[in-house]
Amino acid sequence: MNKRLSERVMNIKPSATMSLNAKTKMMIKEGKDIINMSVGEPDLQPPLTASYAGIQAIVNGQTGYTPAAGLAELRESIAKYLLNERGIEYRPNQIISSAGGKQPLYNVFQAICDEGDEVVLPSPYWVSYPEQIKLSGAVPVIVRCDETTDFKMTPEKLAAAISLKTKAVVITSPNNPTGSVYSEDELKAIGNVLKDYKNIFIISDEIYDQFVYDDKHVSLPFIFPELQDRTIITNGFSKVFAMTGWRLGYIAAPLDIAEAIASFQSHATGSPSTISQYAGIAALNGFDQSMVEEYKKRRDLLVGGLNQIQGIRCAEPNGAFYAFPNVSRFIGTTFEDQKIVDAETFCQLLLAKQHVSAVPGTAFGERNNIRLNFAIPKDLITEALKRIENFTTQLAIKV
Ligand code: PMP
Ligand code: GLU
Repeated sequence: MNKRLSERVMNIKPSATMSLNAKTKMMIKEGKDIINMSVGEPDLQPPLTASYAGIQAIVNGQTGYTPAAGLAELRESIAKYLLNERGIEYRPNQIISSAGGKQPLYNVFQAICDEGDEVVLPSPYWVSYPEQIKLSGAVPVIVRCDETTDFKMTPEKLAAAISLKTKAVVITSPNNPTGSVYSEDELKAIGNVLKDYKNIFIISDEIYDQFVYDDKHVSLPFIFPELQDRTIITNGFSKVFAMTGWRLGYIAAPLDIAEAIASFQSHATGSPSTISQYAGIAALNGFDQSMVEEYKKRRDLLVGGLNQIQGIRCAEPNGAFYAFPNVSRFIGTTFEDQKIVDAETFCQLLLAKQHVSAVPGTAFGERNNIRLNFAIPKDLITEALKRIENFTTQLAIKV
């Protein structure tokens, strides 16, 4: 039969975070008093220097095409940033800039995966990885990680997931949705497994790199230099520079991978926005450390409050800006005759009845938890806690 849509697109789901955010914004527009803790978007502003650099680029007419891989000046600034912040050396031609944090990842899967390859993906995972992996023809091999290891993948679990078809492993630290951060020792243990598999790439998504609260972020190639020629770092300006709508991100990769991605991108989209690239150069010199202190206070407020609510259990996230409380105690309960069968129905009812928008863990491969973005003002966090408690105290246990 001649189908209208390709198998490829029919095989993917829309982004749950994106669609829930759109629905929440629609409800707010209709006048509903919603606390939006759904999408992973910081409420603070980009560095002013970055905004001015963007305006300046427009006024100066620096708005034409750039090379598909990005401005040389931006690529140099990113290489410097990685050296200063991560202690890893890259030449500018190993850096490719792209639209947001999403396109770099999409490009990577397209560049390295063939039909039937496997990509090891620890769960809970950010929503777009499985779909991007499938779009490349590869198969996501989900490794379920749970609270006992702070949702981090152990070396044993990684070793068990590797097969002859494994092409890459995805490591996201700090993690979305759990906020977990791999310590140096944990990364060493992961590296020790991977060093023997010379054909496996490591995709290290470091988009929350500056948001680590009780420690410091380390990058795998820093502690394992021998893995640098198989590691592809992806990063972006959306989170730590609060530049979600500017759509700027990048990869740092071995030269052959970087060149392949530049070639792919030259046909797919061309470069990211020229204006955003100029803003990005300024942003790299303007990271505002006070954001980390501020988000740490909000984390403490939210996590402390969640753990006071009977039936909710929430581990303390060491990074990113998400809390990932376990709400399994409420699965099987009812609210005014509506049964909560999973985290999804929990979130639907929480939104409808208490106007708090949260993402169900099912979107990230974990049915017992929900994700709450704490990059919102403190008074809203306090109000959200009241509403969540109000909701959970009304849930009746069915006998
Ligand atoms: N990686 C992770 C882990 C993310 O959480 C996100 C989005 N929040 C992205 C990549 C994509 O970033 P962007 O929004 O800039 O496309
Ligand atoms: N990644 C962010 C989130 O997890 C933004 C939405 C998206 O791109 O998925 O909420």
